[in-house]
Amino acid sequence: MIDKTFDELLSAITTKALRGDPVDRDELLAVLASTDDDLLDVIAGAGRVRRMFFGRRVKLNYLVNMKSGMCPEDCGYCSQRLGSTAEILKYSWIDTDEAAQHARSAINAGAKRVCLVAAGRGPGDRDIERIAETVAVIKGSAPQVEVCVCLGLLKQGQADRLRQAGTDAYNHNLNTSAGNYARICSTHTFSDRADTVAAAKAAGLSPCSGAIVGMGESDEDIVDVVLALRELRPDSVPVNFLIPFQGTPLGGHWELTPQRCLRILAMFRFAFPDVEVRVAGGREIHLRTLQPLALHLANSIFLGDYLTSQGQPGRADREMIADAGFVIEGFDQPTQSARPRDLVITRHRGAGTTAPANT
Ligand code: SF4
Repeated sequence: MIDKTFDELLSAITTKALRGDPVDRDELLAVLASTDDDLLDVIAGAGRVRRMFFGRRVKLNYLVNMKSGMCPEDCGYCSQRLGSTAEILKYSWIDTDEAAQHARSAINAGAKRVCLVAAGRGPGDRDIERIAETVAVIKGSAPQVEVCVCLGLLKQGQADRLRQAGTDAYNHNLNTSAGNYARICSTHTFSDRADTVAAAKAAGLSPCSGAIVGMGESDEDIVDVVLALRELRPDSVPVNFLIPFQGTPLGGHWELTPQRCLRILAMFRFAFPDVEVRVAGGREIHLRTLQPLALHLANSIFLGDYLTSQGQPGRADREMIADAGFVIEGFDQPTQSARPRDLVITRHRGAGTTAPANT
């Protein structure tokens, strides 16, 4: 592989991803290590993969922060962490009516998925019941909307209860590689996180799990977390760019360039050709004027604001999608088309074989 020119390598990676075949570790590392001179070629290759599996559709997701701040965990990137002095909104659980009202306005603005998120290590059973009620109210007025819940580490039986209540998906990000995990958090482990994603999936919830980049990790760390995610077989993969809140250990840490963000998104697309890749937190502040190029790589974004920071106006998100020639994915369109690789069955009967023809 090393003997190939980057152009040859990129073409081989694109062909593999278009077939839905796994792109390997060295190939993913090569995408991350490519130069700014190669960037448009990388976007063109990954963009072909994106269009093959998702056309020009962009799925809109909307975050409702159900309970903000005062988390006992110490994730270094998080403005809601233990000891954070970031000037964020802090409040306890909002009620069902308020959550449903936010969900309704997001659905009216084009959101296909509503994500109910609460800060904390994990929910108590009362919290699960509170969320179950909110899910029921949202689904009662908009049965077609996807509801994803993100409450931290789950205990036995909680994923089943969420599923029973009509929850569609559960989000829990792996965030960074197993090897880098202790550097960003000391109150829980990488395996705790992976176990929760597996438990959610086992309960029939659609697993949503992704990463945060821009925390001082190496290319190897990013590829390691991608490979760990691939083993969990998520249905959606959010890619967050660190929002370096002052008052957190990573406050003021700016290491990403828009070009680097695009290479990272392209690498995620090659790694997850037919899986929803979502540009998540930090889109506006890191990609800046290059945001529309990200739509050629990711097929999903958050509409409007993030958990504790503001995004660009929802109208600007919708205009950007239209200007770049993409369309907002509707409720009647599946996020993932039937996977072409699953539909193709190689013929082993009829002409050229000794097996009877299919007549
Ligand atoms: S990421 Fe979640 S668990 Fe970690 S500090 Fe923030 S709210 Fe708490």
